[in-house]
Amino acid sequence: MKTLTVDVETSPMLVKAHQLRTNYINHKQIVKDKALMSFAAKWQDKKSFIYRDVDHHGLVEMCEHVACLLDEADLVVHYYGDNFDVPMIRSQLQVMGIDQPSSFRTVDLYKVVKKNFHLASYSLAYVCKYFGLKHQKGERLTDLPMTDKEWASNRKYNIGDVKATEELFALMLPFTPPQPQNALRNKDVMTCGRCGSIDLERRGYKVLNQSIYQQYQCRACKGWLRDTKATERIHTVGVT
Ligand SMILES: [Zn+2]
Repeated sequence: MKTLTVDVETSPMLVKAHQLRTNYINHKQIVKDKALMSFAAKWQDKKSFIYRDVDHHGLVEMCEHVACLLDEADLVVHYYGDNFDVPMIRSQLQVMGIDQPSSFRTVDLYKVVKKNFHLASYSLAYVCKYFGLKHQKGERLTDLPMTDKEWASNRKYNIGDVKATEELFALMLPFTPPQPQNALRNKDVMTCGRCGSIDLERRGYKVLNQSIYQQYQCRACKGWLRDTKATERIHTVGVT
């Protein structure tokens, strides 16, 4: 299975406002809309990072490259990417007339963390700090034009987020949905759909409304799984 971790950086919007303490800005006040400025990505099975930005590679090359990567991916991992990164990429591709990538599954680690943990903040930096992961610091892109030093800092920031997201994915694996491609890795034996391990331990039963299933815990990633075939089924249901 091809798993890609991705993160994008965008330029801020430039708007006209009549007052400093403006709490609502109409779209008519937009002077310059936000735009995709750079992206960083990494294949799970490769060591190197991929980075492209509008200054060094050009908008078209950057957009075609990220579309190509998403097209190749079976699973895309990101932090808040269901709401931001992926729609941001799709919007830019659409406006530029570049073909959208074929469909891919996503794991949005922001949703995973929010659903399972109560934290003071859900920013990637805070989440990494909370769980003891390194989060490389750099300066987020402000606006164009930027100096070479500022672009270098943006590159560090962008790649740092991808690195942190990949490490967070490894930590959050037991909380993520199993992926069919992993489960099919060893067709003849039961396989963990999260990490691909076959080291599964029988750990009690999962009881649902209609059926009871054998339950397992993966010794490698500590995630929980159950059989798809029920050991027992209930043949009546209550009606009201
Ligand atoms: Zn596992």
